[in-house]
Amino acid sequence: MHDAEGKLSHYVAVFADISKIKRSEQEIDFLAHNDPLTRLPNRLLLNERLENAIQRAKRQDEKVGLIFIDLDRFKAVNDSLGHSAGDDLLRAAAQRMLARSREQDTLARLGGDEFVLLVDDIQSADALIPVAKRLLACFDKPFDIDQQPLHLTVSLGISLYPDDGNDARALLTHADTALTLAKDSGRNTYAFYTQALTLHARERIALESSLHQAISGRQLRVYYQPQVELGSGNIIGLEALVRWQHPELGLLTPDRFLPIAVTAGLMINIDEYVLNQACQQMQRWLDAGFELQRMAVNMSGSWLERGQVVDNVKQALARNGLNARFLELELTETEAMRHSESNLQRLDSLRQLGIALAVDDFGTGYSSLMRLKRLPVNRLKIDRGFVSELPHDQNDTAIARAIIALGQSLNMELTAEGVETHEQAALLMDMGCSNAQGYLYSRPLPAAEIEQLLRQQVCSTSR
Ligand code: C2E
Ligand code: MG
Ligand code: MG
Repeated sequence: MHDAEGKLSHYVAVFADISKIKRSEQEIDFLAHNDPLTRLPNRLLLNERLENAIQRAKRQDEKVGLIFIDLDRFKAVNDSLGHSAGDDLLRAAAQRMLARSREQDTLARLGGDEFVLLVDDIQSADALIPVAKRLLACFDKPFDIDQQPLHLTVSLGISLYPDDGNDARALLTHADTALTLAKDSGRNTYAFYTQALTLHARERIALESSLHQAISGRQLRVYYQPQVELGSGNIIGLEALVRWQHPELGLLTPDRFLPIAVTAGLMINIDEYVLNQACQQMQRWLDAGFELQRMAVNMSGSWLERGQVVDNVKQALARNGLNARFLELELTETEAMRHSESNLQRLDSLRQLGIALAVDDFGTGYSSLMRLKRLPVNRLKIDRGFVSELPHDQNDTAIARAIIALGQSLNMELTAEGVETHEQAALLMDMGCSNAQGYLYSRPLPAAEIEQLLRQQVCSTSR
């Protein structure tokens, strides 16, 4: 500034404090690459570092290790203690693992309870074993959450560059596959992808690719298991159960291939196939004069959720000329409780077609009684787990009795699954259960053998 005589007298300086802006810019930048909850690198940054590590290892002829870390049963903790306790636990777990890892390694959080440790410049797979053990040891001591000691374990899946894959994506997928093996072998342990591939995934991959052929190539079989009336012992219904006649492995039961069908998105195709076969077979038996009341078919969650289940049922009934009242669809308790309002409507539409609905494996899930009351179901099937120890196990006896009472007061019919002895049958009947299914009466059998049983029954009742 100049004074009256034009001489320079002052200077004016204008300034603004932009540290706030800088800070928020830094924060935005930080959040793009880090997880806000644990402040660990996120998937994006992990990918960048992994790509770099791979490039470096390529040049220097070294290896890179990737350890997929998953907290065991975290969901249960989160559900029971609440999300804020869950968050505390994730933060505490992240801190412990970070404290025990080397500075050059990257511990990242992918989301949920999934973490990854990127282990740089190692010479062999063996070098990862102590790293994995250190990670497991992070969970030896309980966590202090809401002033409560909380024990937690982790499972680890390990993959290695270049042995198990050449890029970040393959390494991550393979570490994840190895993780499945670690979980399957009882959790709180680690597994290498190479092991997983030989032991587990190889079978799975092979089965998955041949499952596609199985469906189109007529390798699926439908077996039937009788359902009897407890009073008379007469066969009054049948449950259709799928089998896979594998060209090399022989006859496979559903536990071997249904889990694969679910992940491969093939469940709907299987259910539709079984439904059609079962309707056709039922109509044949009715035409032959056998006095059967129902054919039960299992309905998977995916069929109900994503499939055209209502249309499929309509078509299957029409195509085979089967009256809707002979068909019953079974939905497991877990699926029955899980589904949204639109699925409830779909169940209503199924009922309106005139078919019956049953809740399968009742007692193994978590039922909301409110929901159970609103479900348009006709039948509860008491899970085998409560039947097998009858009458010796007092708790199981009490539970079976309670389920029967519950079903009766909701006006539902009851079927006991897995009845293997006369003692069980007598007790269940005494408790008010009307129907039963189990090896005592028959194992699931091909249609021709069921037909023999039905014939014998006709002979013995007419005699
Ligand atoms: P589920 O619907 O509860 O079927 C009853 C299972 O218990 C059958 O096993 C049957 O063989 C077995 N079982 C019956 N009585 C006894 C007994 O007295 N003792 C013992 N130990 N077991 C008995 P399976 O055929 O292996 O089927 C297993 C599960 O696979 C079924 O359980 C059902 O949830 C599912 N499943 C089978 N076929 C289909 C299908 O076509 N579609 C769908 N979505 N699921 C199916
Ligand atoms: Mg069933
Ligand atoms: Mg069942």
